Amino acid sequence: MLVENFPEVIDINFTSHIEEGFDDIACGKIAWVPVIEEFYTPFKKNLDEKMGSVEKLTEISETPCPHCEKMMLIKFGRMGKFLACPEPGSRVTLPLPEEAAKIKELEDKTQNEKCPICAKSMAVKRGRFGYFLGCINYPKCKGIMKIQNKTGYKCPACQEAGRTPIGDIVEKKSRGRGKIFYACSRWPDCTFLMNKKPENEPDLNSAFQYWKDNPPKSRNRKSYKTKSSQKSEPLKE
Ligand SMILES: [Zn+2]
Ligand SMILES: [Zn+2]
Ligand SMILES: [Zn+2]
Repeated sequence: MLVENFPEVIDINFTSHIEEGFDDIACGKIAWVPVIEEFYTPFKKNLDEKMGSVEKLTEISETPCPHCEKMMLIKFGRMGKFLACPEPGSRVTLPLPEEAAKIKELEDKTQNEKCPICAKSMAVKRGRFGYFLGCINYPKCKGIMKIQNKTGYKCPACQEAGRTPIGDIVEKKSRGRGKIFYACSRWPDCTFLMNKKPENEPDLNSAFQYWKDNPPKSRNRKSYKTKSSQKSEPLKE
């Protein structure tokens, strides 16, 4: 579609010519306005023309619209593909079936999570960095949370320290090599971690004993460091 309608944007000679222009701007040899103008003026004119003439590609899905029952259209949005009602002016949208299944799975996994700010339920949302939990009271409450892979075990270090709520042992990935390890969900308040997945209580207890006998300071903490606590930057990982 681009090759057909915007040949100059794809043309390698044109691109290299513009690149040279950028270099000259960077060196202070020429002003930026004429360079951008040379590109932008014809580009904008062509874009305006093509907006009217190029037909939008529409794919029809096999999902009937829950309102009008016509087959929904597959559209592109900021977060990728989604389904939209084909009726003009309708704002009914749905996630694609694969995505709906993924959301359902995450919803089941996170149904007991509560908003860290107002303690209401959380809903699965999708952002630029993947899925996360957002308060159902959004936009009034902006509580968000990372979706964690829980092992089903509670943190023995939190238990012993009398911390409330007691953290969950969750699966984590080290930054860098992406090695899987298991740690308390209350990081950085609680620094308990173990290398192997806990399979039973004795497993967990011996890992806890080992952790106590080998205080974190004597180990290379770098490999275990996760970028942030879940409150400050939940979407980056
Ligand atoms: Zn509809
Ligand atoms: Zn909330
Ligand atoms: Zn803990």
